[in-house]
Amino acid sequence: MGKETGKQIDIKCKKRHLIFEGYNKVGKGRLLKVYQDQVKKDHTIPQEKEGLEIGDFIYCGICEPPLAVASLQMIHGKLAYKIKSSGVPKTRT
Ligand SMILES: [Zn+2]
Repeated sequence: MGKETGKQIDIKCKKRHLIFEGYNKVGKGRLLKVYQDQVKKDHTIPQEKEGLEIGDFIYCGICEPPLAVASLQMIHGKLAYKIKSSGVPKTRT
């Protein structure tokens, strides 16, 4: 964990299931990405059981049929989930 402190938020899918619990969002503005190491608890499920690779999607753990909520990317040199607007309502801080 970095020393930067932000605002702790819970992020939900379009159907309001919790997907990221206690995300430490640093900086104000629209939520576009979620850094992996700033999530307290991740409730998503990966595209492949074998592990997540860059570009893979992650899904809400509850939605049926599965709802893609983000994809794994490298952003500013850190692993981050790039939020899919089709799976997560607009979130601002
Ligand atoms: Zn859901």
